[in-house]
Amino acid sequence: MRIFDPHIHMTSRTTDDYENMRAAGVRAVVEPAFWLGQPRTGPTSFIDYFDSLIGWERFRAAQFGISHNCAIALNPKEANDPRCAEVLDVLPRYLGKNGVVAVGEIGYDSMTGAEDDAFTRQLALAVERSLPVLVHTPHRDKRVGTRRSLDVVRESGIDPGAVLVDHLNEVTARMVADSGCWMGFSIYPETKMDEHRMVAVLKEYGTARILVNSAADWGRSDPLKTHQVGLAMLAAGFSDADVDRVLWHNPVEFYGRSGHLLLGTEHGTGAAAALYEGNSVLRGQS
Ligand SMILES: [Zn+2]
Repeated sequence: MRIFDPHIHMTSRTTDDYENMRAAGVRAVVEPAFWLGQPRTGPTSFIDYFDSLIGWERFRAAQFGISHNCAIALNPKEANDPRCAEVLDVLPRYLGKNGVVAVGEIGYDSMTGAEDDAFTRQLALAVERSLPVLVHTPHRDKRVGTRRSLDVVRESGIDPGAVLVDHLNEVTARMVADSGCWMGFSIYPETKMDEHRMVAVLKEYGTARILVNSAADWGRSDPLKTHQVGLAMLAAGFSDADVDRVLWHNPVEFYGRSGHLLLGTEHGTGAAAALYEGNSVLRGQS
């Protein structure tokens, strides 16, 4: 099984996770820029974080044979902090780079005016740069938040085929399917979607325009949930080709629109002794 996790925050994960992901078939990931739990106090913290997404983290993933790409944005939660607003002016410097395959995650957290402003400005940036966008839907008031996100997306004039609306469930899936946007499902160990409900969604909607991710981060989450969806699909009678479509071809098609998607070995040797600015992932071993 060949897996591309289209939404995972590897910065928050360990080398054991990379090893287990590789063994389960994960060959590529997209890491969207997000909220780190600890509030940032200014734009330079974001710059260091973005640099690490296109630098150290890509290098680290390559040591485990995984192609690492990212999405860059000011996340919805921190869009509310005026100290961080300047980050919006820094984004263009990252959006033309190889391995930066989308603007994201953008969207709503609490649906404030500041979030509206950041959401709209970043959609305009995506249109200007012909990049896909990853839209996070709020965990509270999901139906209202998703409906309003789709309205803002429509008003931006962006091609719905360049938009992934993520963290969906059975309540919000239909409106996104009808909008022409891509449908993203995050599979969590305890809340939201699980692999069996995901199989039921795939039976209802088919395998086109659907992305399945683990959204694993610093919270309770599991980076192998994509693999478990693949197994649940096979157990439910889907073919190997169906699994490959959902877990590999769909993310390649969606993020491939950017023209910046890195896949394969051209940017990583898989050699654990390799160095990034003089440092390796080893700790004294050879
Ligand atoms: Zn996320």
